[in-house]
Amino acid sequence: MTTFVWSIDDAGAGDHAMVESLRRMCAFFDSRGLPSTWFVVPKARGKPLSAEWQEALAMARDAGHDLQLHGLTHEDCYEFGPPAWPATSIVPTMQEEFDRRRDELLPRYTVENLRARLEEGLAIFERALAIRPTVFRAPCGAISKAMFAALAQVGIRYHTVMYLSGGYQHLPHNSGVLAQPWTTAIPHRPFRWYSDVVEVPILNEYTWRGAGQRSQEFIDLARQEVARIAAVSPVAVILMHTHGIADDYDHAFRLVDAVAEQVLRQSDRFATLGELAASGELDAAALDTGPDILSF
Ligand SMILES: [Zn+2]
Repeated sequence: MTTFVWSIDDAGAGDHAMVESLRRMCAFFDSRGLPSTWFVVPKARGKPLSAEWQEALAMARDAGHDLQLHGLTHEDCYEFGPPAWPATSIVPTMQEEFDRRRDELLPRYTVENLRARLEEGLAIFERALAIRPTVFRAPCGAISKAMFAALAQVGIRYHTVMYLSGGYQHLPHNSGVLAQPWTTAIPHRPFRWYSDVVEVPILNEYTWRGAGQRSQEFIDLARQEVARIAAVSPVAVILMHTHGIADDYDHAFRLVDAVAEQVLRQSDRFATLGELAASGELDAAALDTGPDILSF
């Protein structure tokens, strides 16, 4: 059996429309009896969580949804490491900018610096939401060996950012071909990685901005990939973003219903990452080692 997780990024960041996205999506999940995991930016662009965000996040928490840590400020796409695919296929200039600012950015990636960022984020979570996160997702998939060492030091043993498929090909500057080969650079199931942190790979994102214009194609692709991952992994994570959902609520809701139907047809189930971390299922699902592919 495979356990599927809905994971949604960038809660805590953005204005009223993004708070509304969390509220509407949680209400929709509740109406279907589905759990979800929200990755929250605790100090978006360096500013404290607004009262509106705090209230909405507390409501999600009280309804049984899972809140986990997504960077500290998410101020740029290099908070915890250098640029990574597929964020670079959303913003093609990301690598150039990083290369230009390399001398300024590289010194960020020390265990000490990154640990301090994590500790600040954890303290905000505890103060504002009375939650101790157990899972981390680095903003924009930008990761480093120092990040994993810092996660281990603060007691976060699970990370989930490595894409199996995807590449945001529906965006105007990309190929338009939605179904992409799955990467062979990482295992297609959780694996124990740097500093003994368990990495839980993620599927394509089917609800990024603009996806609603090709709604049926994304739904068909999601169904195929949900069937494929179930054959090879006991755990599968699906990625969404608050702004992607708000771009086309009808598409997001249709997608969730189609995936839920597929998962139930396969006799699989849904849970939150927090539950799977606490129950030991992520550890049990993890291969013993992962490939050494990070240069920093
Ligand atoms: Zn993000």
